[in-house]
Amino acid sequence: MAEPDVLVVGGGIAGVSTAYHLATLAHNVTLLERGEIASEASGANAGSIGAQGWGQLPDLQAYLTMGSLEILKTLQLDLGFDLEFRMSGSLQAVQNEAQYEFIQDRVHTQRSRGFQVELLTAREARAIEPGLNPKLPGYMYSPMRAQANPVKTTRSFAAAAERLGTRILTNHEVVSLEHIPNGSYRITTPQREFNAGKLVLAAGAWCSPLGKMLGLGIPVVPVRGQMWATEAVPPRVYATISSSESTLDWNLHQVGQHDGPPDLTHLGQKRLTRHLYGRQTRDGQIIFGGDRQVMGYNKTPDATGIEVNRGHAAEVLPMLRDMPISRTWAGLMPFTMDGSPVIGMVPGMDNLYIVSGLASSGFGRGPMAGKLIADYIHTGHMPHVLAESDPARCITQLE
Ligand SMILES: Cc1cc2nc3c(=O)[nH]c(=O)nc-3n(C[C@H](O)[C@H](O)[C@H](O)COP(=O)(O)OP(=O)(O)OC[C@H]3O[C@@H](n4cnc5c(N)ncnc54)[C@H](O)[C@@H]3O)c2cc1C
Repeated sequence: MAEPDVLVVGGGIAGVSTAYHLATLAHNVTLLERGEIASEASGANAGSIGAQGWGQLPDLQAYLTMGSLEILKTLQLDLGFDLEFRMSGSLQAVQNEAQYEFIQDRVHTQRSRGFQVELLTAREARAIEPGLNPKLPGYMYSPMRAQANPVKTTRSFAAAAERLGTRILTNHEVVSLEHIPNGSYRITTPQREFNAGKLVLAAGAWCSPLGKMLGLGIPVVPVRGQMWATEAVPPRVYATISSSESTLDWNLHQVGQHDGPPDLTHLGQKRLTRHLYGRQTRDGQIIFGGDRQVMGYNKTPDATGIEVNRGHAAEVLPMLRDMPISRTWAGLMPFTMDGSPVIGMVPGMDNLYIVSGLASSGFGRGPMAGKLIADYIHTGHMPHVLAESDPARCITQLE
C-alpha cells in the first residue's frame, strides 16, 4: 500500500468531507476510522441542516451553512447519491410573550442583515405545518433550512471519496501519533503503521486524546446529545421543528458556564433550559432531541431528560402526546470553550490540521468545513473566513 500524502483521522462528516474534497483535488488520501463510517455523532444526529442565507457580509457561519447546503445538493442532485436531502424549511415555536419579543427583534435584525427568516402567526405556520399547536403566539420560519439522513449522507461522502481513489479504512483505531524529525507523521493502528506528510485530525469529540499523543492540548469537550423516536407513522411532520426557549435563555444567561462550553441545557445535573429539535424521517419515525450535557464519554441516554424533551415536543406538536417512544439513543458532540469551531493549521507543528468543534450543528456545517480545510491544504493558504476558527486561539503545547 503506497503511503498517503494526507492522512485523515476520523470517519464522521468532517473527516469524510475533508477526504472527498482532497480527492477532488487529486491528493492521495487515506482515512482511518476506528469503527464504521458515521458510527459516532455523524450517524446519531437529528439530520437538520441550518441555513438562513449568505447575508450581506458572509461570515464563517454563513460559509459553513450555505456552503454545506450547496455541497449536499451536489452530492444528491449531480452525483446521484440518495441522502434523503430536501429543503424542508424549519419552524421554531415561540411559546410565550418574552420569547415573542426576543424572536421579533431577532427576525428584524437578521432580515436587515440579508438573512431569510420570517415571523409567522400560528395560522400562517399551520398552513405549512398543519400539526403545530394553534395556541402558541407565533413561529419563526426559516425557508432555507433543510434535512437529510445523517448516516446515508456521511457514507455517501466516503463512497464518493473512494470512487476518486481515497482509501477508507474502517476498524482502524489510531493508537499512537508521532511527529518525526523529517517533519512528517508516523500513525500507528493495531493493523499497521502509516507515514504521511500531512495529518488531519477530524476525530470529533476525541480530538483531545489524539492531541495528547502529539503533546498538544486541544480543548474540545464531549457534550452528550440524546434523542428519541416514535414508531414509523404516515407523513405528518414536514419541516424541521424547534422551540425558542433555549435561544432566549442562552441569550439572557450564560451564568455559571465559565468552566465549560456555552449553550448547554445542564450545569452538572441541574437543568438550565429546554432545547428542542426534531423532524419526521423518510421511513416515518418522528425523532426529537435537545439536551446538551457534559458527561465525559458517557453515551447512555438519560430517561428523565428524554421525558422532559418529549413533553416539550408535545407542547409544539400536540399529536406527540399520544405517541409512545419506541427507542432512544445518544451521541457525543465536539464543543469548544468559546463555541466557535476549530478549523485550520495547528500552530508550532508541521502540516498538522484540525477540523472539529462543530458542536451541535456539525452535520449541517461539516461538509463545508471539510471543503475549507481541503482548500487550505491544497493551496497552502488559509481561506480568509477561517480566521474566525484559527486553532492558534486555543490549542496549546503540553509541558
Ligand atoms: C443527538 C445529536 C443530535 C444532533 N443533531 C444535529 C442536527 O440536527 N444537525 C446538525 O447539524 N448537527 C447535529 N448534531 C451535531 C453533529 O452530529 C456533530 O457536530 C457532527 O456529527 C460532528 O462530526 P465530526 O465528524 O466532527 O465527529 P464524529 O461524527 O463524532 O466523527 C469522529 C470520528 O472519529 C473517530 N475516531 C475517534 N477517535 C479515533 C481514533 N483514535 N482512531 C480512529 N478514529 C477515531 C470516531 O469513531 C468518529 O467516527 C447532533 C449531535 C448529536 C449527538
